[in-house]
Amino acid sequence: MTKNVPEIFGCMVFNEEVMRQRLPEDVFNSLRRTVEQGKEIDPSIADVVASAMKDWAIEKGATHYTHWFQPLTGVTAEKHEAFLTPVGGGKVMMEFSGKALIKGESDASSFPSGGLRATFEARGYTAWDPASYAFVKDGTLFIPTAFCSYTGEALDTKTPLLRSMDALSNEGVRIVRLFGDTETRRINTTVGIEQEYFIIDKEMYDLRKDLIYAGRTLFGAPPPKGQEMEDHYYGELKTRIQNYMADLDEALWRMGVPAKTKHNEGAPAQHELAPVFSTTNMAIDQNLLIMTYMKKIAEQHGLVCLLHEKPYAGVAGSGKHNNWSIGTDSGKNLLKPGKTPAENKQFLLILAAVVKAVDDYQDLLRLSVAHPGNDHRLGGNEAPPAVISMFIGDDLQEVVDSIISGTDYKNPGRIKMNLGIPSVPTFTKDTTDRNRTSPFAFTGNKFEFRMPGSSQNMALPNIVLNTAVAESFRQFADVLEKAENFDVALQKLIKETLTVHSRIIFNGNGYSAEWKKEAARRGLLNLKTSVDAFKTFSDAKNVKLFETHGVMSETEIRSRVEILFENYAKLINIEAQTMVEMAMRDILPAVNAYTAEVAKGASAKTAVVSTADISMETDLIQRLSSLSGKAYLQARELKAADASAMAKTDSEKRATAFAERVIPVMEKLRALVDEMETITSAEFWPVPNYGDMMFRV
Ligand code: ADP
Ligand code: MG
Repeated sequence: MTKNVPEIFGCMVFNEEVMRQRLPEDVFNSLRRTVEQGKEIDPSIADVVASAMKDWAIEKGATHYTHWFQPLTGVTAEKHEAFLTPVGGGKVMMEFSGKALIKGESDASSFPSGGLRATFEARGYTAWDPASYAFVKDGTLFIPTAFCSYTGEALDTKTPLLRSMDALSNEGVRIVRLFGDTETRRINTTVGIEQEYFIIDKEMYDLRKDLIYAGRTLFGAPPPKGQEMEDHYYGELKTRIQNYMADLDEALWRMGVPAKTKHNEGAPAQHELAPVFSTTNMAIDQNLLIMTYMKKIAEQHGLVCLLHEKPYAGVAGSGKHNNWSIGTDSGKNLLKPGKTPAENKQFLLILAAVVKAVDDYQDLLRLSVAHPGNDHRLGGNEAPPAVISMFIGDDLQEVVDSIISGTDYKNPGRIKMNLGIPSVPTFTKDTTDRNRTSPFAFTGNKFEFRMPGSSQNMALPNIVLNTAVAESFRQFADVLEKAENFDVALQKLIKETLTVHSRIIFNGNGYSAEWKKEAARRGLLNLKTSVDAFKTFSDAKNVKLFETHGVMSETEIRSRVEILFENYAKLINIEAQTMVEMAMRDILPAVNAYTAEVAKGASAKTAVVSTADISMETDLIQRLSSLSGKAYLQARELKAADASAMAKTDSEKRATAFAERVIPVMEKLRALVDEMETITSAEFWPVPNYGDMMFRV
């Protein structure tokens, strides 16, 4: 069946085109000004917009509306209200007021607030974010909103994100003004989010309690084949996956998500989807929709989509690459070096601002990607270290070196590639190669932050990036606006900044053991676990940063720290309990049954031939009995360690206890169980094995 992509694209979205068609011109213009300039909404137009939205939504099959928000749970929340209003005589009409569009009130007491709200102040408000489009999904009109407490503190991820975008814009405009730009009224931050995921057959998934409760396998011996052949990355798509991806694309296009790239990833059954970039808040909303549809469409294909960072040990985990750039409201990309970067002073100043931001706020960038799932990717045994550094490529490095040393830079020019085949056209080579091992890589006209985990909401990484860069801009503008000789001051500032902060730049192999040592020598931070990273959030310098730019108050920060610690403990507690349950109730009984079966077989053999060789049986029984005995003790120890960690009342101490005293016991239990798996009959093993889960999709 052919698909008319332009026709279906965005058909479920109340986008600019629909607004233009359905709103009176003055209302449309006023709304557009609000969005483009980040200005306050004129309340008098709300009723008109609401009514137009409702009529449109009803045509798309909607009966309900919901304020859609992003509480600090990391997932989205929705509460559906029917449009209907009784009009007497047993009749109803469909109604949606401006008031209901702009403001929602809900009981916030069941959402995490990290102490921001006492239970008696349960009220929470949701407020319409007109900069993100509303859409219809499953018979409901979804209105993107921000979520705050009765006292006005942000209880969500979106509010500080929008504030950080404003901060970057305000300070960014000061920077472009210095270079004679009098037109730009807003600096936009743009983001393109690449989403990695795993797919598993639903029947196998249903048999694994660990996947159901924890989203990742807590046990599982490595299969004979992993990803060592490197035959999956960009490999041919299996038919079932192809069908899934086709339906996923279509669903996303209908929702106005410009899904563009799809391919197999490094690990077996791992894939990736990337949309075309957009404004940051929109990109994050779209990423949440992408995750929702990845799971939803999988169900329709008898599959399950795993968004956890590390569903399987021993193969690559899933990340979410945050491609980040900044540009003017007229569409000029401010991270574009141009043909002669050495002469492009505005670019060099902005590059210096990012270098400084990443160096000054390494801790916050690390924190912004810290959660239990991501601990398996960062600073783990096989993963890159949890050290933040940035890659700028050889060309820019030479420019930077020449600035620092005060020598001339010679532009090497673009090199033509000729493959020596007359029919294949020659092309110009990119000026830098890719660096896949850098956590923060310059990729031509944007930076790619590769540390975020596949399951996380991308607000925090972008809040940190935007605010940290806004702070560099603020400091730069303060100096340059007052400068007597702008050119001299500019040159000096770029040189000084790059000299002080060049330690954060590393263009080599970020996965190598040498880098770990070199990073330590340079004094770069290495916050190994999430718990280490959480502690830095409320450091004085970080509170000052967020308060200076009006992004988060100290109270809002402290509440978030509290939630991070709480969530960490809750998640590891679930994992520990699931392990104990699986070990005690499924795996150990299965091993026992198999051992008994082997013993029965041995007795049967010797009953017939008293001298029959039963060395295999004897050895198996011995090994399994010994392993299962140890595993049993380890499971009991895990239960005890879990209970003692849970008993700690202080959230930081509780999280620390889980990190230091529960996780090591989990690892020991897993090692014993995985060893038993390799010598227990597959017929007896109670859960699907790694090979089947990863290769039989
Ligand atoms: P890769 O080759 O690393 O997989 P791509 O070139 O396909 O990356 O781009 C990855 C993502 O970066 C896409 O989502 C793309 O839309 C996004 N991107 C491109 N330009 C920008 C930009 N100026 N700002 C933000 N994201 C961008
Ligand atoms: Mg990429």
